[in-house]
Amino acid sequence: NHQIRLASRPTGAPTPDNFRIETAAVGEPESGEVLLQILYLSLDPYMRGRMSDAKSYAKPVEIGAVMEGGTVGRVIQSKHDKFKEGDIVLSHSGWQSHAIAKGDTLRKIDPSIAPVSTALGVLGMPGFTAYAGLLTIGKPKAGETVVVAAASGAVGSAVGQIARIKGARAVGIAGGADKCAFVKDELGFDAVVDHRAPDFAEALAKACPDGIDVYFENVGGEVFKAVFPLLNSFARIPVCGLIAQYNQKLEEAPGPDRLPMAMRDILTKSLTVRGFIQHEFVDQFPQFQKEAPGWIKDGKLRYREDVVDGLENAPEAFIGLLRGKNFGKLLVRVSE
Ligand code: NDP
Repeated sequence: NHQIRLASRPTGAPTPDNFRIETAAVGEPESGEVLLQILYLSLDPYMRGRMSDAKSYAKPVEIGAVMEGGTVGRVIQSKHDKFKEGDIVLSHSGWQSHAIAKGDTLRKIDPSIAPVSTALGVLGMPGFTAYAGLLTIGKPKAGETVVVAAASGAVGSAVGQIARIKGARAVGIAGGADKCAFVKDELGFDAVVDHRAPDFAEALAKACPDGIDVYFENVGGEVFKAVFPLLNSFARIPVCGLIAQYNQKLEEAPGPDRLPMAMRDILTKSLTVRGFIQHEFVDQFPQFQKEAPGWIKDGKLRYREDVVDGLENAPEAFIGLLRGKNFGKLLVRVSE
């Protein structure tokens, strides 16, 4: 069993030294368990939080433990009556090539609906995050302007497309010309703005002539600074992620202190700012599972995957995710 373990906690951006590759015995499943061969490992921004022991909504990965992560695997031995050899399942097995899992924690994936990797992306946690956060907190109405950053990525791509399904105008923010072209031409957003361009704030204002009614927050930092003055009265801001600051020590963030100004606008514009972790909306997952495959089939919900081959390449790919190197939902193909 090949595994990637947390070797040390990063300060600032993670480096390859923070990870350690190890080989361990695979083991035997006990009654109620299955043995899995991992096919795909999902790499997600939240993993940066798990590498740190700063206070958060979930416990950190212990030093020396296998890195945490969502996986799609094939059952190669089963001691659970609901699973048989060859079944494809969703599990949370982490960064390793094989795993023993309790059958009751697994979800069977139907390969006839979509490629099995989508259970980690558009039809899985990131797609559901977009769906629940946008519809429950953002509540986009027809004709309103919805803005989302990291728009070519797993969550952002779905946010903009679901906004359009609901009749809203979708404006994406992405890094670089290729991602911008993809967001506009392939995903069908109404407009897209490059946050790496020197005139970003002006271009964003131009792309939102009627202001912003919903800002789905994925990144924070400089992008949020450009968005904030454009928010309309009664705008809704689902705060989903702040990837631009995951490598920062927030106590050391440079001033000036903009919090008083932000609070003034939250008050005078009657803004709704609401953070969320997708899991709190788990009751809506069955509804999402009913709706999303149809949208994919009709071409209304498109997705792009960025697949890296080989578990040993996971650390480098993850480090790149925090710098915008991925183009689409980042996955590691662990085995065929
Ligand atoms: P993506 O597939 O979108 O990949 C991350 C993208 O973030 C990069 O490609 C890059 O896009 C952008 N990015 C990285 N660093 C910066 C930076 N410094 N400034 C601006 N943009 C940056 O990831 P996901 O779709 O999986 O996640 C998107 C967000 O959603 C993250 O913040 C994540 O933590 C959050 N999330 C929250 C959940 C919740 O329950 N609250 C659940 C799942 C995700 P580009 O090159 O276009 O800038």
